[in-house]
Amino acid sequence: MLRYDLHCHSTWSDGVLAPADVVRRAAERKVDVLALTDHDEMGGVAEARDAAADSGVKFVAGTEISVSYLTHTIHVLGLGVDADNPALLEGLKSVRHGRDDRARRMGESLARAGIAGAYEGALTYAGNVSLLSRTHFARFLVDRGHVHDTHACFKRFLVPGKPGYVEHVWADLPDAIGWIHGAGGLAVLAHPGRYRVTATGMRKLLDTFRDAGGDGIEIISSSHTPEQFGEYAALARVYGFKGSVGSDFHAPGESWLDLGDSPPLPEGVTPIWNDW
Ligand code: AMP
Ligand code: MN
Ligand code: MN
Ligand code: MN
Repeated sequence: MLRYDLHCHSTWSDGVLAPADVVRRAAERKVDVLALTDHDEMGGVAEARDAAADSGVKFVAGTEISVSYLTHTIHVLGLGVDADNPALLEGLKSVRHGRDDRARRMGESLARAGIAGAYEGALTYAGNVSLLSRTHFARFLVDRGHVHDTHACFKRFLVPGKPGYVEHVWADLPDAIGWIHGAGGLAVLAHPGRYRVTATGMRKLLDTFRDAGGDGIEIISSSHTPEQFGEYAALARVYGFKGSVGSDFHAPGESWLDLGDSPPLPEGVTPIWNDW
């Protein structure tokens, strides 16, 4: 059985490895099919594709689009997209727009909480300055000793109601799905278990996602517990969504699921790669 990993990040967004190094690590870890899915960005696709050709990994071009849904930020993966599609590239650019201003305001918010220089500090962790993310702030805050690890950081800082959090408007769901489909890809709701919604709210989100043309949901993810793998597999069957698998790898040692560590999809779920 082929080993799929359809969600990971490089230095083009908030990962710490260059695209070619992500691919080499995936190859070493026996991944057969890899999608690079940088946040709101596909600048790493060409390098990753070349590295994949050299190392015998089948490469799938992807991206992870930030979307505003009600009061939530959700992430939608575009898998198997044409990385040169003008409307998709333009859409991603529009989503990236505003990240720098947001980051400056995050820096100001942290300054009011007594942490100076966070914007400049976060910048030193970013490979791609147009994609400053909360992850870069988290790495800065951890390395400066304000908090002992990333997990703790996203409890004390950078989340609603805490220093460093700034409201932001991302893409519309129908737009994001339209860009993905227009570029020939499949739209997958990333790590549904991470959204802070009730059971009813989750059904409403899945209804909305399906009505907007969404193709699948992520079932195996480092953001899910093994128990949630089963829960989201059941929801995928009920809703007729295909299921996806991804480590959401950002950096060695940063999460319990490294590249290629994902268990197979539960029985009875149609894989997102069914028609590839
Ligand atoms: P942004 O797109 O700038 O809002 O940053 C979102 C990124 O922050 C996500 O893609 C994750 O990489 C990271 N992140 C968010 N919440 C957490 C968390 N609780 N623990 C670790 N990383 C997180
Ligand atoms: Mn990330
Ligand atoms: Mn995500
Ligand atoms: Mn991700």
